[in-house]
Amino acid sequence: MEEAATPPVVVIGAGPVGLAAAVHLAAREQEPLVLEAGPGAGTAVREWGHVRLFSPWAELVDPAAEKLLAPTGWVRPDGAACPSGAEWAELYLQPLADVLGERVRYGTRVTGVSRAGRDRVVDAGRDEQPFTVHLVTADGDEERLTARAVVDASGTWSGPGPLGGDGLPALGERTAADHIAYRVPDLKSPSARARYAGRRTAVLGSGASAFTVLAGLAALAKEHPGTHTTWILRRSIGEDTFGGGEADRLHARGALGLRARAAVGDGYAEAVTGFRTTAVDRVDGQLVLSGEDGRRLEPVDEVIALTGLRPDLSFLGELRLGLDTRLQSPLELAPLIDPNVHSCGTVYPHGAKELGHPESNLYLAGMKSYGRAPTFLAMTGYEQVRSIAAALAGDREAAERVELTLPETGVCGGAGLFDDPDAQAETEGAGGGCCAAPDTVQTADVEAPAGAGGC
Ligand SMILES: Cc1cc2nc3c(=O)[nH]c(=O)nc-3n(C[C@H](O)[C@H](O)[C@H](O)COP(=O)(O)OP(=O)(O)OC[C@H]3O[C@@H](n4cnc5c(N)ncnc54)[C@H](O)[C@@H]3O)c2cc1C
Repeated sequence: MEEAATPPVVVIGAGPVGLAAAVHLAAREQEPLVLEAGPGAGTAVREWGHVRLFSPWAELVDPAAEKLLAPTGWVRPDGAACPSGAEWAELYLQPLADVLGERVRYGTRVTGVSRAGRDRVVDAGRDEQPFTVHLVTADGDEERLTARAVVDASGTWSGPGPLGGDGLPALGERTAADHIAYRVPDLKSPSARARYAGRRTAVLGSGASAFTVLAGLAALAKEHPGTHTTWILRRSIGEDTFGGGEADRLHARGALGLRARAAVGDGYAEAVTGFRTTAVDRVDGQLVLSGEDGRRLEPVDEVIALTGLRPDLSFLGELRLGLDTRLQSPLELAPLIDPNVHSCGTVYPHGAKELGHPESNLYLAGMKSYGRAPTFLAMTGYEQVRSIAAALAGDREAAERVELTLPETGVCGGAGLFDDPDAQAETEGAGGGCCAAPDTVQTADVEAPAGAGGC
């Protein structure tokens, strides 16, 4: 009788981290099958393709993927230059997926993952059972696959947060949807320019995406007088609000914060702090935002909500996940990445051990593993999947080894999610979580790649 083939390791998502996972798994003869909902590699990255990354090429290419690509004549672009999302997808992710060939399937959206024949309640024989993966193809056909392990690298791009300060949609948000955007607009495109030039826009959020929009709208205002931005933050503005500036080892990230600061300082954006949105009303064709404290803001024509991205955990409902209740990241990882504590950007190196769940052979990797923490960098994800592939291959020593250096933000005490001015002041006074205690920071055992932080 013919022996049944070992089922593949299913990787969900052909983004930078899912593809890197496939490379590491294949190198260890753990046959991967990448299931990607979109029509090509890096579908999510292409959707923000107009945004220039703050990481240089040297930090955006997985070293093992580079080795796999080399025989095809592929050469990594200038390590010091920062690509746009579109360039990252076209010049690296798609060629990588092409080399992986039939190991990557497009137009396959995973809709459910479970243990074969076991819902989440059943204990008996659980760990010995393979996974069953439910998917829907682009044509609407349903399929079931068997997997020996699952690496969910499906990102968080599909889950933008709403306007409401309580994390739920504000009253009236749904009916005002035609004037609310949840993504960074391409302010070079004619349609976006027509939408925002000469208009009043409210921008919510205090992360890199919000900074990108503040800087972009300030540039638009220089060409189109009357373009005005109201920048709405739940937190107050402090020393570190705009990041590490020139001290940031990712120069482009520091520069972005400085451009956002200039947009406010030069009067193109007016900051409204400590504002927790509860409602949005249409008044004479414009939108008026109301806050929890009873404030009603000046009317605006458009709203851009950049309040963070959230993981979609719905298709993992039959699995036993161990997630932190605040961040929705794996339990052991959460304290290492909590942006309320670790504000230096020096996220501790981590791998399979910190990414595990009560469900064996299941990992969340990449952007999704950070849950709601906004500090994820692609190079973190490449290290995660190197370690996961080693663990699945039974190589514990390699799984536990740390091979990562992360660029520092140059900020102590506050690149985080502070929402409470008192808590913020306290942490600043203490010198900030990780910076204040260098002996507890696990420093790198590998030098940063050449050209890192160059753009
Ligand atoms: C505007 C922006 C700028 C950024 N700039 C930087 C930067 O400068 N440097 C940096 O290191 N990081 C940056 N990031 C973070 C960046 O997103 C990650 O580094 C990287 O894209 C994460 O890769 P990922 O593979 O984890 O997820 P993603 O890139 O989101 O890929 C996930 C993939 O999974 C697919 N998918 C989703 N759901 C399913 C499903 N149910 N079934 C099948 N497939 C599915 C998606 O279509 C997508 O292709 C930025 C992010 C954004 C949004």
